[in-house]
Amino acid sequence: MSKDTPTKTANGRRRQTNLVRGGQIRSQFDEISEAMFLSSSYAYDSAEQAQRAFKGEEDHYLYSRYGNPTVSVFEERMAMMDQAKICQSTASGMGAVFASLACLLKAGDRLVASKALFGSCDYVCTVLMPQYGVEVETIMSTDTAAWEKALSKPTNAVFLESPSNPTMQLFDIAAIADLAHKAGARLIIDNVFATPVFQQPLDLGADIVMYSTTKHIDGQGRTLGGAIVTNDEAYYQDHLRMFIRHTGPTLSPFNAWVLSKSLETLDLRVRQQSSNASALAAFLSDQPKVTKVIFPGLESHPQYALAQKQMTGPGTVLAFEVDGDQARTFKFMNALELIDISNNLGDAKSMVTHPTTTTHQRVSADERAALGINENLVRLSVGLEDIDDLKEDIEHALSA
Ligand SMILES: *Cc1c(COP(=O)(O)O)cnc(C)c1O
Repeated sequence: MSKDTPTKTANGRRRQTNLVRGGQIRSQFDEISEAMFLSSSYAYDSAEQAQRAFKGEEDHYLYSRYGNPTVSVFEERMAMMDQAKICQSTASGMGAVFASLACLLKAGDRLVASKALFGSCDYVCTVLMPQYGVEVETIMSTDTAAWEKALSKPTNAVFLESPSNPTMQLFDIAAIADLAHKAGARLIIDNVFATPVFQQPLDLGADIVMYSTTKHIDGQGRTLGGAIVTNDEAYYQDHLRMFIRHTGPTLSPFNAWVLSKSLETLDLRVRQQSSNASALAAFLSDQPKVTKVIFPGLESHPQYALAQKQMTGPGTVLAFEVDGDQARTFKFMNALELIDISNNLGDAKSMVTHPTTTTHQRVSADERAALGINENLVRLSVGLEDIDDLKEDIEHALSA
């Protein structure tokens, strides 16, 4: 993996310090833990002050659909994580995906999107965007040449996820960023699987990065949330800011508070989960009843070299194939006693999913086959349990 050296950020502190303290504001009570401002609206000293605030002549919160102090703390901390100038939070990851595209694209524009996407992202790109008159081309291949061909025409936005869900395909972000820019497009990366701990797409040339904070950033299964990070001032000022203000996919202050506290431990959790995932990937590779293991940290991954180049760690999610059909695969999943069957990921609790019948059920059988989503494929999101308990649970369930 490429080297991850914590360098000082714009405020003179290193990333981990900013994750613990970034953006903090203290009230008159000097609290250590961030205060929570559950307030939808704000009072003005005078009618004149309200007038100045609305004209933008005086900094004052107006209404929590536009901004809230607790939400601002989270956004500032989150921006620091990706060393970005701007973070806009949303009520869910899908709120972030939809807002990132819908604020920008209009009828007649062109979007190039990866086919290897989270089911709901695929719906936004291939069903909703065409409904608004956006021309959409989807790319099945991880080969940069296929992207070069699609981006030989003027384009407005490119959307992709790397590593992809659930088959862990990687895309060369730096190369595709170059191609996108030559075509006049902004590159938007769904960085959920990689996490901001292991991949910094803005440094690789992407323009916009989005997260489902529901996953690793919360990491303890409590809240839904999303975030869009960027250094593109024009994108924010001319498109995103107004879209969010006037359409309302706003993050609640309560969830923002939970997420700010979660950022304090994000790096620790993700590194430990990733270390457990690496150990399980090696363990699964040795199991006679497992025919294939897909994990960016394994040398057998078809894009191991790219993973080494653009990521600083392999992530916390892996996929593997059980020797047998769907019935055999279900038998394995049902025999697990510790690991939960759930479609979430990034959590402290380990979870397995059967993508064919759940998250990717909407995708056609042909497309699933092309993406390598087979009936015996299991996705495993590795949590923080003791590694030996995880191994024992899997070993026992495989012999069921
Ligand atoms: C979960 C997820 C989303 C959507 O996030 P929500 O918070 O569930 O709305 C988008 N992209 C990826 C890769 C995801 O895993």
